[in-house]
Amino acid sequence: MELKHIVLRHVKMQLLHPFTTSLGTDYDKDFILVEIKSKSGISGWAESVAALDPLYKEETVKTNWHIMEDFLIPLLFREPIKHPDEVSERFAHIRGNYMAKSALEGAIWDLYAKQKGIPLAKALGGQKEKIEVGISIGIQETVDQLLRLIERNLEQGYKRMKVKIQPGWDVDVIAQVRRRFPDIPLMADANSAYSLKDIDRLAALDEYNLTMIEQPLAHDDIVDHAQLQARLKTPICLDESIHSVDDVRKAIHLGSCKVINIKIGRVGGLTEAKKIHDMCEVHQIPVWCGGMLESGIGRAHNVAITTLPNFLLPGDTAASSRYWKEDIIDPEVAVDNGMITVPSTPGIGYEPNRERIEERTLISKLYRAE
Ligand code: MG
Repeated sequence: MELKHIVLRHVKMQLLHPFTTSLGTDYDKDFILVEIKSKSGISGWAESVAALDPLYKEETVKTNWHIMEDFLIPLLFREPIKHPDEVSERFAHIRGNYMAKSALEGAIWDLYAKQKGIPLAKALGGQKEKIEVGISIGIQETVDQLLRLIERNLEQGYKRMKVKIQPGWDVDVIAQVRRRFPDIPLMADANSAYSLKDIDRLAALDEYNLTMIEQPLAHDDIVDHAQLQARLKTPICLDESIHSVDDVRKAIHLGSCKVINIKIGRVGGLTEAKKIHDMCEVHQIPVWCGGMLESGIGRAHNVAITTLPNFLLPGDTAASSRYWKEDIIDPEVAVDNGMITVPSTPGIGYEPNRERIEERTLISKLYRAE
């Protein structure tokens, strides 16, 4: 692949409904959209999952722009790329900045698949034609509201319900959900809102047959999680703590979790996501694909990676219409009875809508290969 230019766009989209977790409430979604154009005239697309504030992880829209512009883009332009796997090698000496790396690498993957004339899912080695998806429900004002939302999403066929929890919105809430829905696949995500001091409170969740508790302890911990997992019957799933296949190796060694949430942006891209998938498969640790309130372009990447065989649990990639009045791709990501049909057209398989993208772009900048 010979690259002609790269366009970074700061895009702002308004969420249909505010989304509240233990980290705060989101009303809008600001992100960097990456378009990489080859000399042959094909565009590859991806988005960064870094937000305006460093609350989920330390990266932000601004730090991503700086790292891409000053370090990563010059590395991409240095010489032609034969295969997308080379991108993470080329970026390896730049520490951290996973989301920035992932956004550029993802656009290269899309470009590569389009040049080959195959769907991104196939380029990654995926086999599924349909994927199962669940729903992630933010913290609500009342339990009644939460129960109504779960009911509505179950009616639409979503395959599992994930409820965000935090101290004061946890055991009682989960107990009420279980009372109302005794048999549904149900899990809780704490986004690091607890510490080992809360071990009894977290152990109390064992009674409710949750498929997992996601990232209950610190965002950078795997040691305390091992202690907690030894005490809990409920599987722990790690999200924030995992950035690489080497982190997974250590977590497995310590017994810190029984499930891994793979977010492409959090682990530096699709190549590392595949490596994590493969290691987890060997160790019989099921994985699933987490969501970061992505636009349709990020959603399309999530759909593609989820086609790998060890994505055994439903992911967070719900329909575009759950988040946006109008998405920036055609067609939108659609969910039918809790299933997404994987596109069979080349690349991400959804066409970015340039008019809608321009309307939502605050700043854009074009970087030309020399
Ligand atoms: Mg999570």
